[in-house]
Amino acid sequence: MVREVELHGLELHELQGLVRTLGEPDYRANQLFRWLHLQRVTEWAAMTNIPQKLRRQLAAVASLPSINILRTLEDPEDGTTKLLLSLPDGERVECVLMFYGRGGEARRLTACLSSQVGCPIGCTFCATGQGGFRRNLTAGEILLQVMALWHHLEGRGKGERISNVVFMGMGEPLLNCEAVLKARRILMHPLGWGIGHRRITISTCGIVPQIKRLARETPPPELAVSLHATTDAVRNKLVPVNRRYPLGELLGACREYTEVSGRRITFEYILIKGINDSPADAERLAGLVRDMLAYVNLLVFNPVPGLEFQAPAAEEVRAFAGRLRRRGVEVAVRESRGCRIAAACGQLRAEGV
Ligand code: SF4
Repeated sequence: MVREVELHGLELHELQGLVRTLGEPDYRANQLFRWLHLQRVTEWAAMTNIPQKLRRQLAAVASLPSINILRTLEDPEDGTTKLLLSLPDGERVECVLMFYGRGGEARRLTACLSSQVGCPIGCTFCATGQGGFRRNLTAGEILLQVMALWHHLEGRGKGERISNVVFMGMGEPLLNCEAVLKARRILMHPLGWGIGHRRITISTCGIVPQIKRLARETPPPELAVSLHATTDAVRNKLVPVNRRYPLGELLGACREYTEVSGRRITFEYILIKGINDSPADAERLAGLVRDMLAYVNLLVFNPVPGLEFQAPAAEEVRAFAGRLRRRGVEVAVRESRGCRIAAACGQLRAEGV
């Protein structure tokens, strides 16, 4: 049975409200929060310091996370792991774990989470965008992905911990802003996951009103904006939401974000051969972001079956990055992770098993 209240999707103050309605003191909510987000249990029986009566009362109105992994794929070269999850209503989403660094203390483990089932934006280079939109995920369903990745890591028995979270999986996070921000607050809470706010990045293709809203969040999120083009004509084709929020408006909102929040924005730019990778594009891109607190991540297009786009050659990518650097732009060429298991940027699709 799917119960309406997902216990793990409730913030501490909401859990306190719930236990109060059952005649219990606030500290029971703290205990519950720890069981859910520190111990990450999935069964009532595991909550040994919660009275049986309260567990029964809670079970009558709320559900625990139900982790149903349909498929696990691991990239043999870089270890990137992609999980396909089934949700309580039968919908499916994918989430990805990426490993950075050579091991030991320096190793960084990033969970890439989906925010929607499918995506309504329809970027023409993206597998998710080709599949259409089904629905928004709840905060609980977003957190379910982190829990599933954590359980996967536990199974490896190497004591690895998720250190970073990026909302860059399926869907446009800022079209499901409330659930994404709620999941972020729960992930940051020191009684649970305790992931620092600088280690959680929200990505957007450019939903202008929500970018302005995020600037006023406390603390403001790390923000990544998928730019991918330097003219409205090209961006209209690659990222159709550009027709609603054209480049001028988007960059105005980004500038406002950096000024209000004091935070740098990361601009993501997928290089596609012959579409957005010319020297003139590099010059225009430098002009667009140079006077802002900004950083540019260059990505190389990852092949998607059925799409005609191609990746530029490595030397063209280096030349593009070099042009940006010479114009004073901070830039990195991001290594594509998980492309052998269709887990890289733009490749998630949540296909059947
Ligand atoms: S790139 Fe992001 S916003 Fe665009 S269609 Fe894919 S998931 Fe949606």
